[in-house]
Amino acid sequence: MKITFLGTGTSQGIPIIGSDHPVCKSSNPKDKRLRVSVLIESSGYNYVIDCGPDFRYQMLRAECERIDAIIFTHEHSDHVMGLDDIRPFYFKQGNISIYAHKRVLKALKQRFDYIFATKNKYPGAPSLNVHRIKNKSFRLCEEVVVPIKGMHADLEVFGYRFNEFAYLTDMKFVSEKEIEKLKGVKVLVVNALRIEPHHSHFNLEEALSFIEKVNPEKAYLTHISHLLGFHDDVEKTLPDHVSLAYDGLELTI
Ligand SMILES: [Zn+2]
Repeated sequence: MKITFLGTGTSQGIPIIGSDHPVCKSSNPKDKRLRVSVLIESSGYNYVIDCGPDFRYQMLRAECERIDAIIFTHEHSDHVMGLDDIRPFYFKQGNISIYAHKRVLKALKQRFDYIFATKNKYPGAPSLNVHRIKNKSFRLCEEVVVPIKGMHADLEVFGYRFNEFAYLTDMKFVSEKEIEKLKGVKVLVVNALRIEPHHSHFNLEEALSFIEKVNPEKAYLTHISHLLGFHDDVEKTLPDHVSLAYDGLELTI
């Protein structure tokens, strides 16, 4: 299984438009973060978790020519607003499969009504194969995917486990019962927004204590704000088995 970090930034990305913050002005490519998403390549299939506003550029940058499914964590804009840009895949492949909780599907139908239209559909609009998921393992081509439920302030969000890999973003609270489902993962990805606490995202300290509970061989932090600091400075402060993810990072598991 190969993982490519397509984006590792928080909702506004880094740099933020018009920001004078030193991290936003950094020339280090690792300090430039598009909105969060990962590409998972496994057994000849390509899966993307979330498709935010940077989706088009992320697909071009990763030279991704086919997608077999998009799996959504939740409906916030930084995770869904690239859905229209599945058109090139749709034109080549036909309907694109998406997997999401029913609440997320409802939000997608409101925002992308023309994609879900059944009558007088605009000819260039893409079509989907919609898969409604619950907090229960599901099959995705040759994978068994385990949703991990967490809370993003008051909103339920799904992380996903693919065998020895798990990806969780936008978490502020995960119950012990859900943490149990992560036992034995080799590589864990989890969000760490900044140093200061935040009402809906783990800060660095919360992310590190979550990693300690799950106890993976290796953990990567994502959904990073400029307020976390420069990549290279923060990296030096982390335990050996924890690293900051950065855009373009590839892992083979
Ligand atoms: Zn987010």
